[in-house]
Amino acid sequence: MSHRVINFYAGPAGLPLPALERAQTELLDFMGTGMSVMEISHRAKEYDAVHNEAIALVKELLAVPDNYKVLLLQGGGNLQFAMLPMNILHSGRKADYVVTGSWAKKAFKEAKIVAGDAARVVATTEPEKFKRLPRPEEIKLNADAAYVHFCSNNTIYGTQWKTFPATGGIPLACDMSSDFMWRPFDVKPFGFIYAGAQKNLGPSGLVVAIIRDDVLAMCSDKLPTMLQYKVHADKNSLFNTPPCFSIYILRNVLAYNKSIGGLAAIEKNNREKGRLLYGCIDAHREFYRGYVTVPEDRSFMNVDFNLPSEELDAAFVAEAKKNGMVGLKGYRDLGGIRVSMYNAVTVDNVKTLVAFMEDFAKKHA
Ligand SMILES: *Cc1c(COP(=O)(O)O)cnc(C)c1O
Repeated sequence: MSHRVINFYAGPAGLPLPALERAQTELLDFMGTGMSVMEISHRAKEYDAVHNEAIALVKELLAVPDNYKVLLLQGGGNLQFAMLPMNILHSGRKADYVVTGSWAKKAFKEAKIVAGDAARVVATTEPEKFKRLPRPEEIKLNADAAYVHFCSNNTIYGTQWKTFPATGGIPLACDMSSDFMWRPFDVKPFGFIYAGAQKNLGPSGLVVAIIRDDVLAMCSDKLPTMLQYKVHADKNSLFNTPPCFSIYILRNVLAYNKSIGGLAAIEKNNREKGRLLYGCIDAHREFYRGYVTVPEDRSFMNVDFNLPSEELDAAFVAEAKKNGMVGLKGYRDLGGIRVSMYNAVTVDNVKTLVAFMEDFAKKHA
């Protein structure tokens, strides 16, 4: 058995151990080919099976309706910030953006570069340092928007939408990089969903995207070929050489998710993890000072808090590390502690952290 830590990194982040062990077993001789999956043609039938299984598992786990295509793209979440407006915001189309954190702001910034004033901010909680999400009445949508963009989980600030914005039929476009598949959800209000893989799905660089057929039909065919969603959809994400190894790991993670009972079972674990950690924070609210001000907005994936001093923050991180827990140092602008507990973090891992936190609070409060 190799030495493994309890991994609370925000991204790249821990992956389910069985998905990694499967890769270890299959590394040198993938499906009896005598090669690794990195060494075989992306047109070979053995690779094709993995590629199609990954796509089929996304559809199955989320019950994606037939009028959607699942795409496997590259360039991380950041390229989607630009690719979405490049594809949609032509021919006078406009879009609305809800700004709830750094990533949502970056998505808007790229849309501005691509489309200028056709990209509009319709709500922002930046004046409150993103400590909460906008309430429904604070979001003033434009009737002419081709899509409404938001970020489902704000990785840095620790807020997460439990109920998605109501748009009266305007397609939602969502950056789900840091909470994709944390629970089942209804795909139908969405025109476009994308998720960089390195939080809940697999290796960085890879992006899973889901696009509805009517939104795909709006997409430009006057862009460089690699930037056209239509090309990737037509070619089943095999227009050029895909990131085969990353897609293979994605397949392993999704197959593992299915084997443990799918997204309903994963949601149950995630809710229990949240109950345990927020229970501890709320029981010691003078010592563990949560960043998010509205309890319903708190994220099940990323949890930010500050201790009473920077010295205690540092001591917490160092002592946790001695106890086999890594990745707890807060985001640089916020300081304090950030606990990222994506799908691969187990209930037992969070129990270990909470026991440590109880002990640390007793010693230092
Ligand atoms: C991590 C993250 C990204 C960044 O993705 P890259 O793959 O590094 O480009 C985008 N959006 C959110 C919400 C993230 O958490």
